[in-house]
Amino acid sequence: MKNKIELKDLGRQYKKYKRQIDRAIQGVIQSTSFISGKEVEVLEKQLADYVGVEHCITCANGTDAMSLVLMAWNIGPGDAVFVPNFTFFATAEVVSLRGATPIFVDVDERTFNINPNNLELAILEVIKIGKLKPKVIIPVDLFGLPADYLLIESIAKKYNLLVLEDAAQGFGGSINNQKTCSFGDAATTSFFPAKPLGCYGDGGAIFTKEKKLADTVKSLRAHGKGEEKYDNVRIGTNSRLDTLQASILSVKLEALINHELDDVNKFAALFNKELSDFVIIPYIPQSYFSSYAQYTIQLESKNQRDSLNSFLKSRSIPTAIFYPKTLHQQKAFMDLNSSLKSYEVSTHLTEVSLSIPIHPYLKKNEINYIIKCIQSFKSN
Ligand SMILES: *Cc1c(COP(=O)(O)O)cnc(C)c1O
Repeated sequence: MKNKIELKDLGRQYKKYKRQIDRAIQGVIQSTSFISGKEVEVLEKQLADYVGVEHCITCANGTDAMSLVLMAWNIGPGDAVFVPNFTFFATAEVVSLRGATPIFVDVDERTFNINPNNLELAILEVIKIGKLKPKVIIPVDLFGLPADYLLIESIAKKYNLLVLEDAAQGFGGSINNQKTCSFGDAATTSFFPAKPLGCYGDGGAIFTKEKKLADTVKSLRAHGKGEEKYDNVRIGTNSRLDTLQASILSVKLEALINHELDDVNKFAALFNKELSDFVIIPYIPQSYFSSYAQYTIQLESKNQRDSLNSFLKSRSIPTAIFYPKTLHQQKAFMDLNSSLKSYEVSTHLTEVSLSIPIHPYLKKNEINYIIKCIQSFKSN
């Protein structure tokens, strides 16, 4: 198992940090503070400091993190929330769960992220139709690359909308050294094991500069609690990060900062150099930094993509297709009638994208092997 190439190699990471992780887990077990132990607050402080915002509130997962912010903002029926059409289902699911309406916006072909021109057109269309009230934009930092916040935030200002950064895949990225999870009015991330910063189960967090929002989210994640424990001032939910997960995340955050982000970017640079003549490589705009949650290439057709996919699998190189469907193609969103729109770019990306292994524990010979296989496929 150790010598197999993995899309994400959590085994090798554990091997390297076994002593620290085992000690962290044992410490929590000894303390028996499994819920709301001191490790949770310690982690929240570490995360807030790293990201560069005042408040970090951890919770049960990345989906809940987004839901809690939408709850705090009172988003509900009659509200329009703008999301990229090319993302994981949860980005739009949380909108529908609140009773609001997700408006799918086509993405940029090079960055895979929400296209600001299309975003503004979508806002104008919703205003023109007049049935829904535009309220929130949820840009996604897909595959580790931050969305275009300069333009998105100016559009938000122009139309008086809130911005919720979905940085589930974006933790560790930055624009001009401003870290992801610090853009917009609030940001959320996920600690699902395969994300750039993952725990050993489910976990998530909310980030914001605003104390009032932070206080409301803290209350909502604990059954709408007020000043005292059995004082409940609003309807909330139960969404906490386990102390065990927090203790593991503190170790992994240090690893991410110390070397993982650099290593993954070094490997991406090797792929870029050797693959750019053969396939479309990920595009990272000037002054943007990606945490490479995925390294996603584009082929010239669906046929080529599917053939390369089988070719790599037959050579023991794991791959993934993110995403085989756009949001507007999902059955769950059929009643939105957005299937009548074209969404050319996102539809195209479902056909030509292929994610290949990228993680900080790849070995030089494995990287060379992956490169060789892709080059030889394209040369035939
Ligand atoms: C993973 C992911 C989520 C949800 O995170 P969970 O922790 O699995 O709930 C939301 N948005 C995006 C873009 C994701 O990739």
